[in-house]
Amino acid sequence: MDSCLFCQITAGKQECRKVIETSQLVGFHDTNPKAPVHVLIVPKRHVERPEELRVEELEDIFKQSEEVAQILGIKDSGYRLIFNVGSHAGQTIDHVHLHLLGGAPANVLY
Ligand code: AMP
Ligand code: ZN
Repeated sequence: MDSCLFCQITAGKQECRKVIETSQLVGFHDTNPKAPVHVLIVPKRHVERPEELRVEELEDIFKQSEEVAQILGIKDSGYRLIFNVGSHAGQTIDHVHLHLLGGAPANVLY
């Protein structure tokens, strides 16, 4: 979708601080980080919600999240993986993305 920011970024039409790329996804730093390390792992195919993803896309997302943690040096200290789905979760971009957060102990409200 031309109007979608994450379609633009994953297609290379908008800048990002890329950490990783495969044929199916791009991982890049969040511009408004909520943790010392905050990367978004974004499938290239535009779908809104996680349940619309194919099994092979989900497999790639989780394998590459481990790779991102390894690259950024937080694999052993640990990290959170979060999908925000819908308004109560605070989803602001309607192109599914996995948040990877780490680099310090998490301050989790719920
Ligand atoms: P969500 O609230 O779950 O939809 O997450 C959207 C995330 O995208 C937020 O954490 C934003 O800070 C982040 N974001 C918005 N625009 C950009 C951008 N151009 N590059 C990287 N991250 C972005
Ligand atoms: Zn999109």
